[in-house]
Amino acid sequence: MPALPYAHDALEPHIDARTMMLHHDKHHATYVEKLNAALEKHPDLQDRSAIWLLLNPRKVPEAIRTAVANNAGGHVNHSMFWRAMAPDGGGEPKGALADAIKRDFGSFAKFKAQFDEAGEKAFGSGWVWLAKAQHGAGKLEVLTTSGHANPLEQACFPILLNDVWEHAYYLKHENRRGEYLKGWWQVANWQEAARRFESSELPSEQLWENDGGLVL
Ligand code: MN
Repeated sequence: MPALPYAHDALEPHIDARTMMLHHDKHHATYVEKLNAALEKHPDLQDRSAIWLLLNPRKVPEAIRTAVANNAGGHVNHSMFWRAMAPDGGGEPKGALADAIKRDFGSFAKFKAQFDEAGEKAFGSGWVWLAKAQHGAGKLEVLTTSGHANPLEQACFPILLNDVWEHAYYLKHENRRGEYLKGWWQVANWQEAARRFESSELPSEQLWENDGGLVL
């Protein structure tokens, strides 16, 4: 369970402290507890990284496969999510990532509009992502996943992500998901997104061995 890289109230007023406390200390912690519980009788899988578990469902016994997918996904996605935000976040990306966004979306504004729209339209609990295809020309795409699925499962490398489960915003924004998505840009961590963009070139085996350094 990674510690938050900032204080619970550091993202105020965009993300309130109480939401961060429940989201990190309770929701995320519960995914870790449930993943560990699912693996209790499977010592051979306990040394595997959460990403490996997520990307190798067929090597996980059927009886615990769903629990492992949901909770490993919850752990991986939330671990990335805390770093996708920063108290001094906001603004626009720079360098190679900025160039790629312009190339693939036309402009930063068009990318943001597409991300917001996808996040708002995502039905039920899920995530909205900026991800880079690991095939072809490595195009950047906006996509959504359901539950705690991760773009790596469809060969897209996550660059930036936002949580659109109600637990991410309901205390402060109630049903107004669009309002949450709009305010969230003020804390988006473009430095971390740029780091991920660089990491996206690495072979996927390195993700499995070392989700600490790269993705988590
Ligand atoms: Mn969440």
